[in-house]
Amino acid sequence: MTAVFPRNTPSPADIWQMDHDHVLHPWANFGPFEEKGALVIARGEGCHLWDAEGRRYFDAIGGMWCTNIGQGRKEMADAIAAQVERLAFSNTFVDTTNEPSAMLAAKLAELAPGDLNRVHFTTGGSTAVDTAYRMVQYCQHCMGRPEKTQIIARNMSYHGSTYISQSVGKRPGDRVEQFRYKLDGIHHISAPNPYRAPEGMDEAAFCDWLVAEFEAKIAEIGPDRVGGFFAEPIQASGGVIVPPEGYLRRMREVCDRHDILFVADEVVTAFGRIGHWFASESEFGIVPDIITCAKGLTSGYIPLGALIFSDRIWEAMAADGGRWFTSGFTYSGHPVACAAGLKNIEIMEREDILGNAARVGALFEARMKRLEALPMVGQVRGRKLMICVENVADKETRALLPEDLDVGTRIADAAEAMGLMVRPMGHLNVMSPPLTLTAGDVEFVGDTLERAIRQVADDLT
Ligand code: PLP
Repeated sequence: MTAVFPRNTPSPADIWQMDHDHVLHPWANFGPFEEKGALVIARGEGCHLWDAEGRRYFDAIGGMWCTNIGQGRKEMADAIAAQVERLAFSNTFVDTTNEPSAMLAAKLAELAPGDLNRVHFTTGGSTAVDTAYRMVQYCQHCMGRPEKTQIIARNMSYHGSTYISQSVGKRPGDRVEQFRYKLDGIHHISAPNPYRAPEGMDEAAFCDWLVAEFEAKIAEIGPDRVGGFFAEPIQASGGVIVPPEGYLRRMREVCDRHDILFVADEVVTAFGRIGHWFASESEFGIVPDIITCAKGLTSGYIPLGALIFSDRIWEAMAADGGRWFTSGFTYSGHPVACAAGLKNIEIMEREDILGNAARVGALFEARMKRLEALPMVGQVRGRKLMICVENVADKETRALLPEDLDVGTRIADAAEAMGLMVRPMGHLNVMSPPLTLTAGDVEFVGDTLERAIRQVADDLT
């Protein structure tokens, strides 16, 4: 043991040291981390965070796409505490349940589109996607199509960090040679990113091309072998990729034609991020067969994920009465997490937080779009409170800056020094603030990020 566990109240420096010496930070580069360590966040309230030294930041990252109702709500603390006192835990395996889990499932069925009336709770987004992968195979088998075991997903998608969910996802930066991925049975097609469409293709032609690619991939694998299609309505961690107009509807039609189940991964887009409970139907006009969600479901107060799936799937699985679904977690339907989910949704409804996300989100989108006037900003894209700034070396050719300049991190660091947190992802900067932000916050974020980008551009010339 190298570190000494402090006997008295630890100082900010003690916390930094203990973290540095003992905590593995996913996705942190081991080299720079060894020197720099982590910023210790001590407190959160609304859209703001304070570090251990008392410096205040506007959290335009929103935790990590998740602090939808904002931090520090006493009502949430009270609901969580009350549930801990009443019933801290009871499982939902086989034939026991608890009040919050039953009530939250009923509430989700009310909010979800179409006949998505059935819920399977998980521990987060990755385990929801993992379970969806298994549910697709299970359901296809029950529907008399046991050969439909293959799934199709997209490049630049992020679906989580378990073995299966990471294999369904495919962002280049996530694939490292030290890990193995499940390669058989998971196929990938192009990301629907109009900004990176093949040379000379307009958005409509690009959409035709993407749909044709999907059909060709199904034909290649064999239509009787493809069981599911996994898609985030807007690819979040891949760089907030909004697909071309009509794309999701057309992909849904192809799925219907081939009895392929459509899994919409709404871990980021659900619970108000772009102004709707679920983006699939309200923004893109499709009803998926399965929706996976997490994050905004509890606004990050407590981990929880869920699959919301159709009556049709339920009926197929339950048809002969002699089967059971052997995939669940100790904490599936955790009463405290579900109580947090219920209170979170109650607050969203009472305060019309989705309305605020739509109204202030439109201002946010418009303000961020103005950053495209800067010479280093190739494109600002996204919807409402889910926005990405793509930094480039050349606006005309869309060529990227050298990777080792790490421009996204430079901009995020410059913004952080100005009291604003934005997320760096390679050459991108991504924002997903709490949905409670005001028009004044929009101006602060826009002006500060603009200053940070100008400063980094100056440094690089
Ligand atoms: N799916 C999507 C679209 C995500 O963005 C994420 C996380 O960012 C996940 C799944 C994984 O969720 P979790 O980190 O809660 O396991």
